[in-house]
Order: sequence, then structure tokens, then C-alpha cells
Amino acid sequence: MSSTASCSNNKVLSIEELTVSFDGFRAVDSLSLSVNHDELRVIIGPNGAGKTTLLDMICGKTKPTSGRVIFNGIDITRLSEHQIVRSGIGRKFQTPSVYEDLTIFENLEISLPRTHGIYQSLTFRRSRDIVERIHIMAEQIFLIQQVNDRAGQLSHGQKQWLEIGMLLMQESSLLLLDEPVAGMSPREREQTGELLSRIAIGKSVIVIEHDMDFVRQIAHKVTVLHQGKVLSEGSAEEVKRDPHVIDVYLGH
Ligand code: ADP
Ligand code: MG
Repeated sequence: MSSTASCSNNKVLSIEELTVSFDGFRAVDSLSLSVNHDELRVIIGPNGAGKTTLLDMICGKTKPTSGRVIFNGIDITRLSEHQIVRSGIGRKFQTPSVYEDLTIFENLEISLPRTHGIYQSLTFRRSRDIVERIHIMAEQIFLIQQVNDRAGQLSHGQKQWLEIGMLLMQESSLLLLDEPVAGMSPREREQTGELLSRIAIGKSVIVIEHDMDFVRQIAHKVTVLHQGKVLSEGSAEEVKRDPHVIDVYLGH
């Protein structure tokens, strides 16, 4: 689905010595990391480690004090949030924001990118294609049975799925998800894990998460943040064994 043509390497995102300071406090401090195509990266770390702030800088909501964000070889550090979305980065925030009065179908429909060139001329085909795409998406996010129900009737976990579906309709090539399983039942968590693993094929996904069982289920690689810096990086098992990680995060 992604149309990126970076043959030279497999890197989708490179963060280079990114720093943001709020009144002298460095929430993210000279942080570097990179994410590959098809990769599902999980970021963990104690409260206040800078995880959300990092995502805020990738999506342009917060501007760094110094450092760069390179996406598909292009420096996006100074682009607006809107331009960053259009370049292919989608963000899901911690609390779900779906349109409660609209149906699941309608929520997915309004998330379609508006720049499809075929809009005017092929109205009939467009609507048929789009209806099919929306149903496929509803199926993917486990909401096909509810597709004509209003979103307000969904459980908290189902709203999170709907929002992931709304993000996917935008066809972003990099997805940023801040604690997507917060408030979900164990069964919903497992299904979300399957969903995210499926999504990561052909895209890249960065997930912030706390639940280590869930992290182990989904992560290709885990980055541990602490005080705005990378404390450790590796497989879920590797970081779990890292004494520094046990010390500041997992041990207490
Ligand atoms: P995490 O998501 O890892 O829990 P955050 O990125 O939300 O951490 O916050 C990291 C630190 O930066 C916290 O100490 C927080 O209080 C601080 N911080 C975040 N945003 C701002 C802001 N806009 N102004 C001042 N301090 C902030
Ligand atoms: Mg956070």
C-alpha cells in the first residue's frame, strides 16, 4: 500500500539527537532512534520518561529545541502537523476521539483522505469501492457486526479499535499509537495485538505501552526511555533482563 521508494535502506524514520526543553527541563534529551519498514516498535518507560512528548515531536504537535526527525529521507522537523499527516504519519492519542453520534461506517468514511483524484468523475464506482473498503476495515477492526451502530454505543476498547481503523483509512505509512490497549479487557488486548501485528506488515508502527505481556506479544524491538534518553533497546526479553531497566522501571 505504501508508495515509498527508498531502496537505499530500510529505514522509515530516523530521529537524530532530538531535544526539547520546557523552561530548561529536558523532557526529551538528545534522543536518537530509527524505525524500519514493516517494523512494530514498542516504547516503554516510567511515567514522565518523555514517551508522549517524543510522539508529539514526530507528529509536529511539539517543536523540538534541537535535533531532527527524518521520515522517508525527508527532514520533517519543521513541517506543520497538517503537512506531517499528509506526508504519511498518523497519530492516535491516549483517549479515543470518535464521533459518538455517527455510525461506525460513517466514522470510517469521514477518515478517508480527501485528495483522491478520482472523486468527481467516477462517482458510482467510487461509492461502491469505498463502501467495500469501509466494510473490509470494519472487519479488520472486529466491528463488522456493529458497522451501522452509532459509535457512542461501543465499549471503550471498541472505540480504541474504531480509532485505529480511522487512522488506517488515512493510509499513513507510519502509525503512532499512545497506549492503545488502556482500559481494554485481556481478550480485547489479545485481539488488538493481532490487529497491530497485521497492520505492521507494509507499514511501520510505534506503540507506547506499559503492559509487559502485551509488549512481548507484539514488539519486534523495544526501546526503553528514561529521563528523555534511550536507556536500553532490544527484544522484549533482552530489555527485561537489562539491569538498568530493572532498576528504573520493571523492578518496583
Ligand atoms: P510519558 O509519556 O513518558 O509519561 P511525557 O512525555 O508526557 O512522559 O512527559 C515527560 C516530561 O515532560 C514530564 O515531566 C512532563 O511533565 C513534561 N512535559 C511534557 N509536556 C510539557 C509541556 N508542554 N510543558 C512542560 N512540561 C512538559
Ligand atoms: Mg504518556
